[in-house]
Amino acid sequence: MKERKARPVENLDVYGVYQLAPLIREAVLADAEGYREGRSETRLESQRILQKVWGETASLPSYLHPSTISRCLKWAGYEALEDELDLKPAPRTFEAEMGMKIGSAAHFSLLRILRKFGVQEQTVLQDESGISGRLDFMLKNPVTKEYQILDLKFTGDWAFRQVRRDGLPDYLRKTKGIYNPRPEDRLQLLIYMWGRRQEGLNVAMGNIVYINRDSGKMKESIVPWDERAEHEMTIFLDKLAEAHETIKRGELPKPTVVSTYICASMCPYRLHCDYGQKFAVGAIKKEKKKRPAGVYRQARAEAQKKRKMMERLGIVQAELPLTDPQGHPGNP
Ligand code: SF4
Repeated sequence: MKERKARPVENLDVYGVYQLAPLIREAVLADAEGYREGRSETRLESQRILQKVWGETASLPSYLHPSTISRCLKWAGYEALEDELDLKPAPRTFEAEMGMKIGSAAHFSLLRILRKFGVQEQTVLQDESGISGRLDFMLKNPVTKEYQILDLKFTGDWAFRQVRRDGLPDYLRKTKGIYNPRPEDRLQLLIYMWGRRQEGLNVAMGNIVYINRDSGKMKESIVPWDERAEHEMTIFLDKLAEAHETIKRGELPKPTVVSTYICASMCPYRLHCDYGQKFAVGAIKKEKKKRPAGVYRQARAEAQKKRKMMERLGIVQAELPLTDPQGHPGNP
């Protein structure tokens, strides 16, 4: 075989400090900005076509996204009214953009592995109430035959540490390895479950799996569709309907954020939002959760009724009454 000789380096400029990290940073940020502008232009163009065909009053359906509405309805209002109010969101940082890319890549890589176990890929949710988004994964549980939604959250170390066991409901307190989800993650999952249930699928449970991007460690939260879930969704849907009306009038909805770090470091409209700036530094007290017993009782009775109906239809198996060894009714 003919011996190949390496070409001598003639241009000594190649030994200059030509770093590639700045190139990656600029390229990623420009791509993110281009995507954002492209999306806004596409929307304006679609609106223009719609009005050309159906007249001036025709307007595109406006949807709110579960990932935003679960964090704060005012944030969703800023997104929807961005052009009208001329309030631009803060540009995304390179670190946030890369975090998202790493998360998306890991999602698809996991999907490839989980697909053989019946896990379906991301499905789009679009609902009459004006919610639109993609949920991560769904599977029909091979034991219960009921649907289960999986939401994967890739987090940094700090956010991972914020997911704790404190506040777990009684029936999960003794189960090892189960954590209490962050309130906004729980609500996002409830929205997905509710949306799929509206389509007639019996989604009985949702799981949030937090994966630490730095260490690869996992924490899991379980959210059953029960009377508490129904009650929380009823309250949220009322707030959402009110927010929709407010947005239609060209005004911003009331803030619904519950975690200070969302205002402090996540919301891209925080520089425009007086409430968020005060809330982030603890200058606004959180509203105490009201748990009206009557509403819970009613939701429980309705859930029981639905369950009985599903048992009659053969959708779920009948539950046997729990009894203690002496035959007395037990504590469910
Ligand atoms: S800064 Fe906070 S309160 Fe204001 S819109 Fe953003 S998330 Fe909502």
